[in-house]
Amino acid sequence: MTVARFWRHLPQRYNMVGTKCEKCGRHFFPPRSFCPDCRRAGKIVEHKFKGEGTVVTFTVIHTAAEQYSMLTPYVLAIVKLDEGPQITTQIVMDPAKAKIGMKVKSVFRRIATDGESGIIHYGTKFVPVE
Ligand SMILES: [Zn+2]
Repeated sequence: MTVARFWRHLPQRYNMVGTKCEKCGRHFFPPRSFCPDCRRAGKIVEHKFKGEGTVVTFTVIHTAAEQYSMLTPYVLAIVKLDEGPQITTQIVMDPAKAKIGMKVKSVFRRIATDGESGIIHYGTKFVPVE
């Protein structure tokens, strides 16, 4: 089974599962099936991220689409994972206390509720490390 096909069957949003290149050690999140450094020589394997990282920069969102309005104001940050990749994610915390350089870890939280169908969407978010 190819890596690409493998990933389609994985509940990626429930876990911080990405990939890494065994040849150069570079990590990818979201997962990639190809290493841009090693190209054909790369060997891509799955990698479960620890889900810990550092806030590189952030912004406080005060208005959002209606389905997300219950969340405002919220902190949207670029987090550099300990393994290297940077991701954009929500930090669940008091926006007044957000700081660049703070340590955060991933948690599993509700992202939005679809009002019509009542479907609840879940995904990875981050919280400050105490
Ligand atoms: Zn590589």
